[in-house]
Amino acid sequence: MTNAMEFKPDTRLWSNRARNLNPYVPGEQPKHDNLCKLNTNENPFPPSPKVAEAIGKVLVDQAQALRLYPAPESDDLRQALADAYGLTVNQVFVGNGSDEVLALVFASFFMKERPLLAPDISYSFYPVYADTFGIELANIPLRDDFSIETNDYRQPCSGIIIANPNAPTGILLSLESIDKLASEHPNVVVVIDEAYIDFAKTEEGAPASAVSLINKHDNLLVTQTFSKSRSLAGLRVGMAFGNPSLIEALTRMKNSFNSYPLDRLAQAGALGSVQDSAYFEQVCEQVIELREQLTAQLTELGFEVLPSQANFVFARPEQGNASEIAQQLREQGIIVRYFSQPRIDEYLRITVGTAEQNQRLITALQQLLD
Ligand SMILES: *Cc1c(COP(=O)(O)O)cnc(C)c1O
Repeated sequence: MTNAMEFKPDTRLWSNRARNLNPYVPGEQPKHDNLCKLNTNENPFPPSPKVAEAIGKVLVDQAQALRLYPAPESDDLRQALADAYGLTVNQVFVGNGSDEVLALVFASFFMKERPLLAPDISYSFYPVYADTFGIELANIPLRDDFSIETNDYRQPCSGIIIANPNAPTGILLSLESIDKLASEHPNVVVVIDEAYIDFAKTEEGAPASAVSLINKHDNLLVTQTFSKSRSLAGLRVGMAFGNPSLIEALTRMKNSFNSYPLDRLAQAGALGSVQDSAYFEQVCEQVIELREQLTAQLTELGFEVLPSQANFVFARPEQGNASEIAQQLREQGIIVRYFSQPRIDEYLRITVGTAEQNQRLITALQQLLD
């Protein structure tokens, strides 16, 4: 964002493809101390202690030594995920972060003549991948309240991708709607990007994940990540769950690009995390509770807060300008995300922090808005 943007490269040796790329710009990772970093939806709590333990073992165990290549298909990790989610191992794919899994998904399923359908407001990596792979992307507008109207997806397409809960709104699409969407589009892959699903519940308080539907729909692919709910954004592990034929397409695409996307440390650490479900569930509950507190506090300050089922909230100040507020918070070392994009340029996306971080934000906002 800083030096890289100022550098004007000589592109004469580049391919046309490289010249025409529009890369994704991640939320910044500033290096200052005492920063209240609420801009990239990382988990404010550390990962399970089992993660460091498992990684430590790899470093000292000669049978697992780093001089050796890792398991190309991450068999142990996939088996553990299959067990944890009530699936078979051939219904599970893993990759170097769900961003990589999504790239393979785009290449495997959406490079077809028809457009890919996605909500107009969604994860900003989708248009980037569409561009990278030469896929036409048709944006389907969300309703005025930012919810998804599934009937609007009834049109010829190469596939559908929806983040659920959606980013950056945090709004959850019901399992009934996903069930209907998958039924109505039997000839294309419907991808549900569940980066934040572990912070969501159905109205009855049950798990909201569409993983429960993949045995019913051969065309339903669900992606998830260790980055948010498992506090492992730095380890880079993501996964996809679906019918074995979909998983096989992803595996072939992976092996046509990089046979070893998950290194030994990542496989071991992720396995350690999956094996500590009690810790995982407790962290998710804590984040959900903190989200509800933060929502109430922001509402009290006059913000309109969308009903979030994620580990962030999307909030519009009653007075004042969102972009200016973000700038003023930054001057106090509090970083939130602002998108200067039509329809959402009056909102701030705020990651749920620890109780202390959230309080620091609220105190700063109280002073700013006074
Ligand atoms: C964070 C995020 C991802 C990417 O997660 P990684 O596993 O860290 O690559 C994918 N989709 C959405 C909607 C996200 O917010």
